[in-house]
Amino acid sequence: MVRKGLYRIPPESEVKTAVMGVLQDYGMVSSLKALTGLVNMRLSSENPSWRVGQRRIKKIAARMRGVEVEVISAETDEPLENPKCLVCGSDMRPVMNRTLYGETVVLGYSCPVCGYRTGLKRKIPMRYAFRLI
Ligand SMILES: [Zn+2]
Repeated sequence: MVRKGLYRIPPESEVKTAVMGVLQDYGMVSSLKALTGLVNMRLSSENPSWRVGQRRIKKIAARMRGVEVEVISAETDEPLENPKCLVCGSDMRPVMNRTLYGETVVLGYSCPVCGYRTGLKRKIPMRYAFRLI
C-alpha cells in the first residue's frame, strides 16, 4: 500500500544532480522509465522519502546543459496544430523561412525552452532516450 504524504518532492537541484550522476555512470539511458528508476534510486540514497515522477524528470532533463533528450516518435499524416513540445510541454514557435519570391513559409516548429525541433506533421512519442553531450 502506498501511503500518501510519506514521499516528498526533492528540490530541482537534487534531481539535476541525480540525472547527471546516472548519465555519467551509464552514458546513455534509452527510456524515460529506466531513467526514472535510476534517478529515484540515487535520490533515495540521499533522502529515503524523495520521489520524482517521469514527467518532472523529463522536463528537468530537457532544460539541463550537457544533456540531450532524443524523442523516438511515430509521424502521423495529421497537421500539427497549436504544437506543444513533446519533451518539456512548452508552446512551440514556428520556424519561418522566406522563399525567393518573398513569401513566408513555416518549415516546422521549435521549442523556446529546450530547443526540441519538429516538422509540420503531428508526432506520437514512443520513447525517450537521454545522453550526455
Ligand atoms: Zn521543449
